[in-house]
Amino acid sequence: MIIAIDGPSGAGKSTLSKKLAKRLGFVYIDTGALYRTVGLKFINKGVQLDNTALVEEVLSDTTVDINYVNAEQRVYLDGVDVSDEIRTPEVSLMASAVSALPEVRAFLLGMQRSIANGKNVILDGRDIGTVVFPNAEIKIFLSASAKERAKRRYEELIAKGQDVTYEQVLEDLEKRDYNDSHRAIAPLKQAEDAYAFDTTGNTFEQSLDLLVEYLKTKGVE
Ligand code: C5P
Repeated sequence: MIIAIDGPSGAGKSTLSKKLAKRLGFVYIDTGALYRTVGLKFINKGVQLDNTALVEEVLSDTTVDINYVNAEQRVYLDGVDVSDEIRTPEVSLMASAVSALPEVRAFLLGMQRSIANGKNVILDGRDIGTVVFPNAEIKIFLSASAKERAKRRYEELIAKGQDVTYEQVLEDLEKRDYNDSHRAIAPLKQAEDAYAFDTTGNTFEQSLDLLVEYLKTKGVE
C-alpha cells in the first residue's frame, strides 16, 4: 500500500509521516532528501544548471542511496552519508532549483518507484500523488500558512544550532514555494483525489490525531 503525502515546505509532512509510518508499521521515504542530495552534488561540482550536457554528465556519475539506521532514513551520495549536510538553507535552495530540471526528475523517478516496490510505504514530497504514484491508495495534501511554516522551520533550524533569522527562513520558503509550484514538470499541486489538510494553528499532536482519524475512515489503522 502506498500513502502519498504532498505539500509545501514546512507543512509538517516529514514529522507527521515519520510518526504515522512508525504507528502503522510502514516504511517512510523522505523524497525531498533525494533532491537535496543531488543539489549537494551540484554545489560540490559547481554545476551551472543551464549547462545540460554537464548536468547529464554529472548525473551519470552520481549514485544516491537510502538506508535505514535505527529506523531513521539516511541518505548517501556516492557512498558517503550526507544526511546532515543536506539540511542547510544553501542546499534547500539548490534542491528546489535542481528539482525543476527534467534530467534530475527522471533520474530520481525510477529510484523512488523501485524503493517503494512491494512494500507498505508512506512517501512525502511534492509530486508523489500526482506523478510518482498517481494510483496511490491514499493521498494527503498537507498545507499551512507561509508564516506558520516559516516559524516551524526557523525553530527547527535554531534547535539544530544553525545561524538563521526568521525573515531569512520566510524569504527562502516563499522562494521555494514559488519555484516548486511554478516549474513546468511535476509542479507542486494537490492531486484531484487528495484529501486536503491544513495544519495552520494545530499542534503536532492535533494534526497527528486528525490524520489518524482520517486514515481510519479509509480502513488503515
Ligand atoms: O521536502 P524538502 O523540503 O526536503 O525538499 C527539498 C526540495 O526538493 C523541495 O523544495 C522541492 O523543490 C524538491 N522536491 C521535489 N519533489 C519531491 C520532493 C522534493 O521537487 N517529491
